[in-house]
Amino acid sequence: MLAGGTPRSHHLLAGLFQCHVCGGAMHTESGTGRNGTTYHYYRCGQAKAGLCENKKRVSAPEMDEFVSRSILDEILTPDRVATIIRDIKAATETWWKDRSERREHLTVALREAERRQKNLFNILELQGIDAPNLGDITVRLREIKAEIEGATKALQDLESADSPELTISEDMLAQATDALRAIIIECDDPIIVRHFFASFVDKIVVEGEALVIKYQPQKLMNHGLSTVVHSGDRWLPDLDSNQGPAD
Ligand SMILES: [Zn+2]
Repeated sequence: MLAGGTPRSHHLLAGLFQCHVCGGAMHTESGTGRNGTTYHYYRCGQAKAGLCENKKRVSAPEMDEFVSRSILDEILTPDRVATIIRDIKAATETWWKDRSERREHLTVALREAERRQKNLFNILELQGIDAPNLGDITVRLREIKAEIEGATKALQDLESADSPELTISEDMLAQATDALRAIIIECDDPIIVRHFFASFVDKIVVEGEALVIKYQPQKLMNHGLSTVVHSGDRWLPDLDSNQGPAD
């Protein structure tokens, strides 16, 4: 991907690269040189239509490589990647802690229900059909039975739930950082890399001699383990209540 000069139909910065004059999108275009070589470049879409002063054409392979290197070196720094991985680790630890608390809560509730059930059985054993409020006792026994079954089921579900697993040492953190950089550098599909960059980069603008990358660092961290998928109305209407969380 970063070899430079490789013709490709999809460019890395499509949708991210903005014209510094009009704020419009920089489009990719290609042209053929005298020796038959195809050149790819970015150019303001508005300028093409005569609506913007920015006539500059920017070599697409050079720009893609420069921006990728800049993002790797300035944004996806080893420290920051380590922080992202530590955040995931912390979220995993929270999951285990939550589960432990929930198990304790359910166990207490289960013991309490069993104690009440035993008391009622004792009354029935001692007094038989002469027990006062026999009808009430029967109703309460039925309720307690449902409580016990509910708590037992919840405990079983808790035990069989898939847990997020992440055991990672400091050495592995360094390796993970290198691996992420290698994946991006060696990825042959610019669309994949563009999607990844677009998850935290808002826009890229050339201002004079400077390349300005506007991004949201919080999108790289503290995102926990969940991802919001904006599905529109394609499948949400088919969701039923059984697919929600157990509690
Ligand atoms: Zn423009």
